[in-house]
Amino acid sequence: MSTNLNVQISTEQAYPVFVDHDLTEIIRDCFNQSTTGTDRAIAVIDANVDMLHRQAYQELFQSIFNRVDWFVMPTGETEKNVENWKDVLDFALENEIRRNTPLLAIGGGVTGDLAGYAASAIMRGLPLYHFPTTLLAMVDSSIGGKTGINHHTGKNLIGAFYQPQAVFIETSRLSTLPEKEWLCGLGEVLKYATIAQPSLFDSVTELVSAEKWHTSGNLTKLIRDCIGIKVDIVQKDEKESGIRAFLNMGHTFAHALEAFTEYKAFSHGEAVFIGLVAATHLSRVSNGEVDEEKLLDFKQAYGLQTKKYIPLIDRIVTFMYKDKKMHNSNIRLVLLKAWGEPFLVESCTLNQIKSSWTYALENVNI
Ligand code: NAD
Ligand code: ZN
Repeated sequence: MSTNLNVQISTEQAYPVFVDHDLTEIIRDCFNQSTTGTDRAIAVIDANVDMLHRQAYQELFQSIFNRVDWFVMPTGETEKNVENWKDVLDFALENEIRRNTPLLAIGGGVTGDLAGYAASAIMRGLPLYHFPTTLLAMVDSSIGGKTGINHHTGKNLIGAFYQPQAVFIETSRLSTLPEKEWLCGLGEVLKYATIAQPSLFDSVTELVSAEKWHTSGNLTKLIRDCIGIKVDIVQKDEKESGIRAFLNMGHTFAHALEAFTEYKAFSHGEAVFIGLVAATHLSRVSNGEVDEEKLLDFKQAYGLQTKKYIPLIDRIVTFMYKDKKMHNSNIRLVLLKAWGEPFLVESCTLNQIKSSWTYALENVNI
């Protein structure tokens, strides 16, 4: 049984998010019932996914569309740039697409963000369908409608809110995902555990101890739970301004560490893991009913060497002040009153922040 969540963001039309090991039948039905021009489509596919899964997608789409034009998107964060975005625009328009030609975004967050932003711009909006293929894209980037690209002055500085028509999450695609990318997605899953659903810690424990993560029975449920949390927060943000910031738990720390190490030493998920430990520590010393051990249980899975950064904390902290999400000169952090009870604070002292860094860098180290 596939899981179908209906997602409605603000006044936009609601759209379904399907989650299952394999969605072949559902995808077929969905397009066959669709009123949009489904005789053809534009597919924007990540280069690695193209190599590993093109044949399967091709077979599926052959039974739906008469023609699919494939744009293979180079892999990597630095490719989420204006040149590739323009190339997608050129490719679509030179292939004489129509306003109702679906754009299929197949890949991780890089492909989804760039292709989504291209879909928003071409003819003022092509129908967009997300086929996320990384854990991170499944639990995070394909949900919520943020699309965009990087600028040389910073990440994600150009973009638009643009909701898809549907999101198809097939966990079978994760069979080829490198472990490093699993851990990247896991950072976001642990984030959801801390801010909304501590029972996810147990699901993650089960997942990491499974022989093959992608076949773990709980994976579909885990992904659906994460999506539920993100959707809930994004939907509420309209009325309760600021709640979306809870999704940044651990991220102010993570972004500083990523920027300080020039995105070379840690993946985003690793940095988020370290950031979550730091923010949880800061929460506990501020009387939050939380215990860092819950997170530190996963440090073996990450296998990080972090102690050597302890003498550099003063410099790392300066990057926290450069985070674009800062509102004024105080660092705005998400802390926890208890697991699942986040709040925003701007009053932490520099000393408190530095000692949280020390704790995290000392303790996530294996
Ligand atoms: P990614 O898209 O770069 O994918 C990671 C790597 O996995 C790439 O090398 C890719 O080729 C490979 N890959 C993808 N699917 C695979 C598969 N099934 N098998 C084997 N290899 C596969 O990175 P990501 O972690 O998916 O996404 C990160 C991006 O998402 C960042 O640019 C970030 O800014 C963005 N993001 C966006 C949002 C949002 O709300 N829009 C939220 C979080 C993150
Ligand atoms: Zn993140």
